Amino acid sequence: MTGRLTILGLGPGAAGLIAPDAQAAVDGATDVLGYAPYVARIPARPGLTLHPTDNREELDRARHAIALAQGGAQVAVVSSGDPGVFAMAAAVFEALEDISPADHPDIAVIPGITAMLAAAARCGAPLGHDFCAINLSDNLKSAETIRHRIRHAALGGFAMGFYNPRSKARPDGFARALEVLRETCEPGRIVIFARAVTTPDESITVTTLAHARDDMADMRTVVLIGNPQTRRVGKWVYTPRFASEGT
Ligand code: SAH
Repeated sequence: MTGRLTILGLGPGAAGLIAPDAQAAVDGATDVLGYAPYVARIPARPGLTLHPTDNREELDRARHAIALAQGGAQVAVVSSGDPGVFAMAAAVFEALEDISPADHPDIAVIPGITAMLAAAARCGAPLGHDFCAINLSDNLKSAETIRHRIRHAALGGFAMGFYNPRSKARPDGFARALEVLRETCEPGRIVIFARAVTTPDESITVTTLAHARDDMADMRTVVLIGNPQTRRVGKWVYTPRFASEGT
C-alpha cells in the first residue's frame, strides 16, 4: 500500500468539533504521532500504533512521521485545534526541506477548529472584525519580538488571541504581554480568559485590561483581547463589523 501522511487538527476538545475528514484519517491510520496529551485522545484499536512524544520534539516527530509514510504506513500526525496554528504542520514541512521532492510521501493537511475561534464562539463574536493570533511562547522567538508584535497589533487596532500565555517553564510571558497592552490600550479594553474550551474543564472569564492579572492564564488558556470597539451586549461580547478611522 502507498504510504500517506495526514496532518490534522483534533479541534479544541469536544468530539463534535473534529472535522469528519480528520476523523476519517484517524480511523484509517496505522500510526498516530503527536504530543502525548493529544495522542491520548485517540482510542487504541488493533492495527493502530500510537506514538506519543514530548512537546519539545516536533522536528524529530515530523521526521519519524515522514519516514513511516515513506515506508508505506498510513500516518496521522495530530495536533490540537488546527495543525497549522502553532502546531505540527509547519514542523512537517520544515523536515521535508531536507528531502528531495521525488522522495516526498503523499501529504494532506486537514484543518481543525483553532482555540481562539472556539473561545470566540463561546463568548459571542469578539473577533468580528480584524484580528491576529500571537504565540506568547519564547521558545522559538525572542521576548522582544513578542513585545514588538503585540505593540504593533494593538496600535493597528487588531483584536488578538494569545496562545501559550503562561507555563511553569515560562511564567512571565503573559505578564510581559499585559505590560505592553497597558502602554498601548485603554483600561476598559475587554480581555477574555478562555480555559479548556469545549472540554469538561471549560471556564470563561470576561474582564477588562484594568482587572486582568497574569495568574488568570495558564497553558490551557487562550486569551482574547478585544479591539477598541469590542463591547458587551447582555451576557455576550462582540466586536462590531465596522471600525472607526485609524483604530
Ligand atoms: N494548534 C492549536 C494550538 C496549539 S498551542 C490550536 O489551533 O488551537 C497550545 C495553546 O493553544 C495553549 O497554550 C492554549 O493557549 C491554546 N489552546 C489549545 N486548546 C485550547 C482549549 N481547548 N481552550 C483554550 N485554549 C486552548
